[in-house]
Amino acid sequence: MRTNGIIVAIDGPVGSGKSSTAKGVAQALGYLHLNTGAMYRAFALLVREEGGLGVAADDPRIHQLITAADISFAATGAVTLSGRDVSREIQDPEIALLASRFSAVPEVRARLVEKQRAMGAAGGVVLEGRDIGTVVFPDAELKIFLVADLHARAERRQRELSDMGTPMEVGEVERQIAERDRRDREREISPLLKADDAVELDTTTLTLDGQIGEVVRLARERIARG
Ligand code: C5P
Repeated sequence: MRTNGIIVAIDGPVGSGKSSTAKGVAQALGYLHLNTGAMYRAFALLVREEGGLGVAADDPRIHQLITAADISFAATGAVTLSGRDVSREIQDPEIALLASRFSAVPEVRARLVEKQRAMGAAGGVVLEGRDIGTVVFPDAELKIFLVADLHARAERRQRELSDMGTPMEVGEVERQIAERDRRDREREISPLLKADDAVELDTTTLTLDGQIGEVVRLARERIARG
C-alpha cells in the first residue's frame, strides 16, 4: 500500500457522473479529489486569454504556453491558474470544446500527466478523467469506468449548465458531448478507453448515492485486502 492509501481511478465519457461520484467517494474515504479535466480546461482558458481563440493545436505557441503554465489546485480543491481560482470560468462550454481540442496535443498531455502523477503517487486520492486507469496510474488499486446513455448524459449536463446560469438546448448539449467524446476516443495518444482491469458501472438509471456507495464498497474491499 502507498503512504496515504490506495489510488481510485475513475474514467468515462462526458456526463457519465465522474465528478459527482469522485467527489462523494473522496469525501466518504477522507481522500483527496483530483479532477484532471479541470486541468485541461484551465489550460484552454490560458490559451484563450493569452493566445486568442484562433490558436491551432499545432501552433508552436501551444508548446510555449504549456511549458510556462502554472496550473494547480488550492487546498479547497479549486483549480488555479497562476494562483487564481478559475473553477467557475472553466465551466464555459466553449472552454470544454477548446480543452478537448488541446488535450490531443502530446506536449500538453505530457506536462499535465507529470503533474497528476506527482500529486497522486502517495495514494489516498480519487482521480477522475479519461486516461487515469490506462496511462496516468495503470497500477491504480481500483479502476472504475463509468458509462451512461448519450441522452441521459446530455440531460444531466444541461441541468448543470442551467444551474450555473448558462442554459442551452438539450439537442445542442448532446451534439457538443458527442463531438468531445468522438475526439477523446479517436485521438492517437491516450484515447478514452476502458482499462482491461476496470470495473464498468452504467449510471443511466443509478442514483448518485447508489453510484458513490458502490465505488466506496469496492474501495473498502480493496483497502481491506492490503
Ligand atoms: O472532464 P472534463 O469534461 O472536464 O474534461 C474536459 C476535456 O479535457 C475532455 O473533453 C477531454 O478532452 C480532456 N481530458 C483528457 N484527459 C483527462 C481529462 C480530461 O483528455 N484525463
